[in-house]
Amino acid sequence: MSAQPERERPEAAEGPMLIAEDIHRHFEGMHAVDGVSLEVPRGKITGLIGPNGAGKSTFMAVVAGTLPASNGRILFEGEDITRLPTYRRARRGLARTFQLPSEFARLTVLENLLVAAPHHRGDSLFGALMGRRYWVKDEERLVDEARGLLKRFGMSAKESDYAGLMSGGQKRLIEIMRALMLHPRCLLLDEPMSGVHPRVIEQIQFYLQSLRADGLTILMVEHELHLVEQLCDSVFVMAQGKLIGSGTMASLRRQREIVDAYLVG
Ligand code: ADP
Ligand code: MG
Repeated sequence: MSAQPERERPEAAEGPMLIAEDIHRHFEGMHAVDGVSLEVPRGKITGLIGPNGAGKSTFMAVVAGTLPASNGRILFEGEDITRLPTYRRARRGLARTFQLPSEFARLTVLENLLVAAPHHRGDSLFGALMGRRYWVKDEERLVDEARGLLKRFGMSAKESDYAGLMSGGQKRLIEIMRALMLHPRCLLLDEPMSGVHPRVIEQIQFYLQSLRADGLTILMVEHELHLVEQLCDSVFVMAQGKLIGSGTMASLRRQREIVDAYLVG
């Protein structure tokens, strides 16, 4: 059996990684997302910016599958995933970070990564029939993989510490590593650097760039525009539930309406 979690679909190598078509999400008559269409190019870091309440987090939740769309379609690798639950989107390679729930604070950093991994064989009927030796081997593979990530993210020394004792930035890194345990091809990040010490922000920035260099596609919400400028290949701007612009940060700064609506004041 393959060591990698199985994909539900083979990889398609061309076209945008993700397409949102006319996405709407209402909350009791409130149009949090009001007809957003955008394309996320593969292998790039794409930013989503806009003032507070613009609908960015709601849009990300609709893309991730944690909130159903009121209307519209999401295509991932050319396939319609609009009605798929989050875990099936993740299985296809679309993963998001979750803030660490409080109960995970009592697990070690390493354990936090292990519980994020899909397909615990010990849980399956097959794994149960094959017995402990079988799934212990699987567990060892996951531990190796988790340790590889901890090393890459400079967290090896923390593997046996409780996650709850980590700094804000280290918790953000744990969230990202947990998502990476799912072997995503596209990662959705909602303000991954908020509440993080400036020194750690630089590290996270470096890690995101290295993930992009590996070919990972990233869509991220970020409110610090200088970070967006440094990190994002292109940017979408939302205000009041609608898309009001897109382009490089430099080109957005030259657009009067966007500057007036968001970049100043
Ligand atoms: P952003 O992330 O851009 O700050 P949000 O997507 O969080 O914006 O929110 C967009 C709008 O939708 C806001 O006016 C917010 O109050 C509203 N909203 C978000 N989530 C809910 C919800 N679960 N129920 C009702 N209104 C919500
Ligand atoms: Mg938000």
